[in-house]
Amino acid sequence: MSYYHYGTIQTNSAGHLAIGGVDTLALAEKYGTPLYVYDVALIRERIRGFKKVFEDRKLKYHISYASKAFSVKAMYRLLKEEGIGADVVSGGEIYTAQQAGFPMAQTSFNGNNKSRAELEMAVEAGVGHIILDNFHEIELLEAILTEKQVKMPVLLRVTPGISAHTHEYDMTGQIDSKFGFDIKSGQADQAVAQVIASENLIYEGIHAHVGSQIFETVGFEKAADALVNLAANWAQTFDLTTKILNVGGGFGVRYTAEDEPLAPQTYVENIVDEIMKQVQAKALPEPEIWIEPGRSIVAEAGTTLYTIGSRKDIPDVRHYLDVDGGMGDNIRPALYQSEYDAVVCNRPDDAPVETVTIAGKYCESGDMLIHDQPLAATQPGDILATFVTGAYGYAMANNYNRNPRPAVVFVENGQSQLVVRRETYQNLTQLDI
Ligand SMILES: *Cc1c(COP(=O)(O)O)cnc(C)c1O
Repeated sequence: MSYYHYGTIQTNSAGHLAIGGVDTLALAEKYGTPLYVYDVALIRERIRGFKKVFEDRKLKYHISYASKAFSVKAMYRLLKEEGIGADVVSGGEIYTAQQAGFPMAQTSFNGNNKSRAELEMAVEAGVGHIILDNFHEIELLEAILTEKQVKMPVLLRVTPGISAHTHEYDMTGQIDSKFGFDIKSGQADQAVAQVIASENLIYEGIHAHVGSQIFETVGFEKAADALVNLAANWAQTFDLTTKILNVGGGFGVRYTAEDEPLAPQTYVENIVDEIMKQVQAKALPEPEIWIEPGRSIVAEAGTTLYTIGSRKDIPDVRHYLDVDGGMGDNIRPALYQSEYDAVVCNRPDDAPVETVTIAGKYCESGDMLIHDQPLAATQPGDILATFVTGAYGYAMANNYNRNPRPAVVFVENGQSQLVVRRETYQNLTQLDI
């Protein structure tokens, strides 16, 4: 096999690329392209892998899938089946989880500018925890809770002053961040004092998320240390018990052969070991450890199928190969210079014969999916697969150029299931007046 593969992706007996035991050419034929295809078995494997770390060590834990990576009803149903929680960051994600029948007590609500309407919605929906981000939000939530006469368990999001090794837009743990209370200047102490003084806000713990697509464990370990230190300080200063330590997500995945992330579980093993070591050293009670993986649960499980159309060959310069999607279904290359790998679905094992740049169909010169992809010979009408598009692909999809957003299909055990319909042209104008 010439391509790097994950989960159930393989070449079938017909010599075609198959996922979950389903031929990708049959998927393209049945559902059209562009098409997002999710390998459900791999999502389950990732979730169970994270669970195993905690179960093996017999620890108190909670896994909160960061919904923003891929938030659709079918995903919340899958999380419910696998028995893990979900982190939401908007009214829309709360609504989607509710519509899917997700147990809302298993959700937490993050975000740096939650509106009054969103906070009210969260309280009414019975969201399990609100992760407080700033002083304005403390006041807003306090007012809502007083009005509704209810109490709400909260975590405080802090910025531990860690610069994790990743793309600048993906860094969130450094002091100069829009998220959370700064520890160093004393903001976090001031925030917790306000929470303690409140009748309705029930302090349960601390949260930090240092960034995304991180390949080393050192940043996480430092953040874990900062959280334990803070819990120890607050135990002393305020006689406060910190029940929950939430270390966020951001565990890196392999987009191309050049990426060398650790196994998803390895990050968590290191974090957990560090927390338990520090907690014991400081004689603190054993906390519940929370993680919020998003990308590492869904990225590798997702593959996008496109139909190849026109091409442009500029002698001695470049070969552009155009597909029927692009920045509308995968904006990450344009946004982050993210890299991907691709194969031709009807001959994934054929040796490359040329190096092409895979261009999208959108009216932007920056709408390139892959630069310099070695590829087998292709003809218009062939199906191309790009790998590892399961996180922040559909989630960031848009209607630029009035292109309908693609459909989403789950595949497992030789069966495919449509979980999000392809948008129609009628959908595109339905809000226009
Ligand atoms: C984005 C985000 C995550 C998940 O990040 P991944 O890189 O997808 O794992 C977790 N927690 C918070 C607060 C986030 O903003």
